[in-house]
Amino acid sequence: MNDSTIMRILFLDQSGKMGGAELSLLDLAKDHRKTGRVALFQDGPFRKALEVAQIPVTVLSQGAPIDVGRDSTGWEALQQTGALLKLVKRAAALGQDYDVLYANTLKALVVGALASVLCRKPLVYHLRDILSQEHFSRSNLRLAIFLSNHFARHVIANSEATRQAFIQAGGRSHKISVIYNGFQPEDYQRPPEEISALRSQLGLSSTDYVVGHFSRLSPWKGQHILIESLSYCPKNTVVLLVGEALFGEEDYGAQLRQQVEKLGLGDRVKFLGFRSDVPSLMAACDLVTHTSTAPEPFGRVIIEAMLCGTPVIAAAAGGQRNWWNRARRAG
Ligand code: UDP
Repeated sequence: MNDSTIMRILFLDQSGKMGGAELSLLDLAKDHRKTGRVALFQDGPFRKALEVAQIPVTVLSQGAPIDVGRDSTGWEALQQTGALLKLVKRAAALGQDYDVLYANTLKALVVGALASVLCRKPLVYHLRDILSQEHFSRSNLRLAIFLSNHFARHVIANSEATRQAFIQAGGRSHKISVIYNGFQPEDYQRPPEEISALRSQLGLSSTDYVVGHFSRLSPWKGQHILIESLSYCPKNTVVLLVGEALFGEEDYGAQLRQQVEKLGLGDRVKFLGFRSDVPSLMAACDLVTHTSTAPEPFGRVIIEAMLCGTPVIAAAAGGQRNWWNRARRAG
């Protein structure tokens, strides 16, 4: 395929931070680096990662982020109308040079919907969330469904679970189809020397049984459940908590540290913060756990651990339940 036949896509994403949605977009945008561009609503490490991958990127706003997050209300979102309209104008101006606007998150859908009208380009929404009241306020749910039904040309669901929740919340079933995230298996094959060097750097002995948890620190990701379970495990079990609080949930990080101290587990829980060497860390673990307390839309971590050859324990809910069922059917 030559460049003139590739659709020119303007990818919109709200975050400058590296969450699962951003890592998935990073993989996708690599295939569009010659003709596409990512427009971010905020600056941060995600912009740097896109630049390293030589993907054209524009930061649309230098100010405070607009907050139409999971728990905010439609009214709070409206109060930020000024900032929102500026983003819409900039996205629409950029959008003139592209064939399609693509919204990677709910905030990007809000901006993308209005921008797509202004620049008269079709909008595709990549739905990476389970649209239910466990994850969103009622008004944000209504907003997501309204914008998807009336402004998006098509909605891509990242799992069957996200597709079903969309339809249950009132989304039009003919508008949505499932496309799973893709992974490059070779990115997850690490040499054994690297893995043993990493274990010793982390102060882990050969008799330690290492349990990893890879996720931003957030109450619904359930790190507290793993810490509680650790107090029932043999003394050579060590937990690695990989990830940091990303979206204003720093209090939870502090609570986890208090919990560890209270249970006397200080020497058996290591807080590693955000890491960019996830495949090596996963390979250095004996087990990866996934402890989300609400259904996970996709659960990249579970696929990644399997690609590293490390066993995973996860709840059979949400996205992972879908592939578990498919794997069982495939034998
Ligand atoms: N991750 C990372 N560094 C960390 C912690 C997590 O790169 O320190 C990555 C992890 O490997 C996974 C993503 O963040 O690819 C989290 O995606 P997931 O779908 O599991 O959860 P989300 O963040 O989308 O809720």
